[in-house]
Parts: sequence; structure tokens; C-alpha cells
Amino acid sequence: MKKIFRYTALALLAATLASCSTVPVSGRRQLSLVSDDQIQQQASVAYKEFLNASSTKVITGTSSAAQVKNVGNKIAAAVNQYLASQGLAQQYNFNWEFNLVESSDVNAWCMPGGKVAVYTGILPFTANEAGLATVMGHEIAHAIARHSMEQMSNQYAVQVGAQVLGVATAGKNTLIQGLVNNAYGIGGQLAMLKYSRSNESEADQLGLVFMAMAGYNPESAVAFWERMASAKAANSTPEFLSTHPSDARRINDIQKLIPKAMQYYKK
Ligand SMILES: [Zn+2]
Repeated sequence: MKKIFRYTALALLAATLASCSTVPVSGRRQLSLVSDDQIQQQASVAYKEFLNASSTKVITGTSSAAQVKNVGNKIAAAVNQYLASQGLAQQYNFNWEFNLVESSDVNAWCMPGGKVAVYTGILPFTANEAGLATVMGHEIAHAIARHSMEQMSNQYAVQVGAQVLGVATAGKNTLIQGLVNNAYGIGGQLAMLKYSRSNESEADQLGLVFMAMAGYNPESAVAFWERMASAKAANSTPEFLSTHPSDARRINDIQKLIPKAMQYYKK
């Protein structure tokens, strides 16, 4: 039993060393055991189900709806250009979509593969185009940094670690499919992932760079997070705040990241 356990640990270590990828911009190495294709496929199905659900009202033909598409396209173009300049274009087979959805929830997200939803409830906080670019840049950054894939890889490593090698190898695909299904749901159920604090910081870092590349002054990000923080102070807790703690520490960290992001700022 002890021997099997040791072999399992060795096999996991080998798999871990062989299965890492690098996050663009930050350069951090991350565990990469789950295939992006599999996740993006499931995310694409979940996004379509979300848009088509009777409970979802996609807004079209308003200036806000146009602004969501416009800001999204500008950030996507900047991100695509950056990835191409780094020789990473073929690793990102994104099929971008941007939609504004009627909801009092203060929320926005970007699924793996570039499927973005902005809820009308967050618009009073984004307040202007640069504020919207802050939120969309941040959510897009989670997708470019493959934080969902990383989270599933970590869960996978933990689950495999709890099993003996033979079982783990035989059940690999089922296990991965289960993790992907849990994250993005089947049958219209949409459970967005909650990211770790370090993933949040990394998304702030990348998001500031992406908004700057798209022509938005990264300094406007501070005002957005301050508006979110004041919502908390006013004793209403928007959805976005429960997954995105907006406190003095975050705002302080963002301020420190601005000089670097300014180097990418195209006026
Ligand atoms: Zn986030």
C-alpha cells in the first residue's frame, strides 16, 4: 500500500512537471491538467443556454448595449494583437461574444473562450466607458489567464491524489468531464466560479494592461473600485462584491500596478 502511494505521488509529480502553462503578462507558471478545448466547448454550450433561457433578457438596440459590444471588441482586438505579438495566438482559440443582460444583479463575467455577459445592474457602478472597460478588462483577464482551467486542474490533482493510480488513470476523462460540468453546469444551470485572492490580483494586473492597450486610461480603474467600495459602505452588498472584495488593500494594490499598465496605454 505504501509503495502504491509512493508511485502515485511520483506519477502525480511527473504529470505536474509535464503539465504547466505560463500566464501571459504576469509570466506565472500554473498547473495545467485539464484541456482548454474541453472547458471552452462546455462554456460555449452553457453560454448559449444562458442567453436562450426564458429568465434571460438580452438587451439590444440601446446605447448601453452598443457600448458593451464596442468596449468588448476594442479589448478583444488589443488582447488578440498582444497574443499574436507573443506568438501565443494559436493557443487561444477564442470566439468572442459580448452581451448586455437585463438584471438587477451587480455582476459581469467572461467564460473561457471569450463569452462575456454584463448585467445592467453593474452599469451605475461602471458609470462611464472607462469604468466598463475596467470591469470587462478584469473579467477577460480571468479567461486569458485561464483561471478556470487552473482551478479545475487543482481540483483534479486533489481528487486523483485521493485515489490509487490505476483507478485514477482509468477514470481520468470522466473525472475531468465531471469537473467541467460542475463548473459550467448542464441544463441551463450557471454556476460561476469564485476565484482565489491571488487569481483576483492577477486579473487586476492583466485587466489594467488590457484596458490600457485598448485605449482606456488605467487610472480610471481606481474610481470604479472606489464606487464599488462605497456601495459596500452603504450597506448593500452587490453580487460582484461577494466574489470581488473591494477594500483599501485591493485599491492600494491597483494603484501600485498602474505605472506598469501606463506603459501599454495608447491614447
Ligand atoms: Zn475577478
